[in-house]
Amino acid sequence: MEKLVLCPVCKQNRLTHYLSCKDYVASVEEFNLDQCTSCGFVFTNPRPEFNDCGRYYESSKYVSHQDNDKSFVLFLYRWVRNRNLRWKLKIISKYQKNIGEILDYGCGLGNFLNYCKEQGWKSTGMDVSESARVVVKQRYNIDVFANREIKQQPEKKYDAISLWHVLEHVYDLDETILEFYRILKEDGTMFIAVPNRKSYDAQHYKEKWDAYDVPRHIYHFSPSDIDVLMDRIGFKVIEKRGMFYDAFYVSMRSEMHSGKGMKVLRGFYRGLISNFKASGNLNYSSMLYVIKKK
Ligand SMILES: [Zn+2]
Repeated sequence: MEKLVLCPVCKQNRLTHYLSCKDYVASVEEFNLDQCTSCGFVFTNPRPEFNDCGRYYESSKYVSHQDNDKSFVLFLYRWVRNRNLRWKLKIISKYQKNIGEILDYGCGLGNFLNYCKEQGWKSTGMDVSESARVVVKQRYNIDVFANREIKQQPEKKYDAISLWHVLEHVYDLDETILEFYRILKEDGTMFIAVPNRKSYDAQHYKEKWDAYDVPRHIYHFSPSDIDVLMDRIGFKVIEKRGMFYDAFYVSMRSEMHSGKGMKVLRGFYRGLISNFKASGNLNYSSMLYVIKKK
């Protein structure tokens, strides 16, 4: 395990225990979350060594043991994901009026990149999974780099860089965001979506909140954490938007960790409350940050 002594966001060293959370997906191990007493950032500490984190992504155990609730939630997840493709590109197009080049960092199986390609964008991906890279190339003829390969392209610049629920998994946080700074065009835009630990559903479910998702999620951002982090590296957040569907999905998954009945209904109800409260305070279950260079 790797124990951090400095806050990854503000680099101060005063940390205090925040929560203990269980890995419900792969290992059933418990993980500690620390909070920085200077800036309030919460992160998984200690975290698995980078070379050891792969085993926490082996979730076949989870997928092959679904009950009806989970199957329904999985179905809902896929429906929402497809619906979201259009929504994501619409927001990107609001800031990048001309169709250009997009890098989807952590592109997975490339659904979003392929949608961008169909709409005329030159699409490039990055993914740590070699099998994902091969699938996207074969299925969509889209190039997907491994992380180090992006660094080997000194001249390459992008109009848009997107990270859909990826930054909370990234080990070399500063190094990665600095790399984005280098490869984003001066008038380019970055789009980062992450869960929000200040949301109502996070506060309600506490250690059972599904989006803590330890130890795969090593950072647990609030909107102000993203402001501080981006400012330190030379970016500024120009817009924050809620991701409406995430409250339902995350709440239903969180109910499954609680062991009570009527999980889908309960989760739907909590998702509704979360979105209602967030319409006032902008603390949605997940947030999308629109980011430019300063
Ligand atoms: Zn801090």
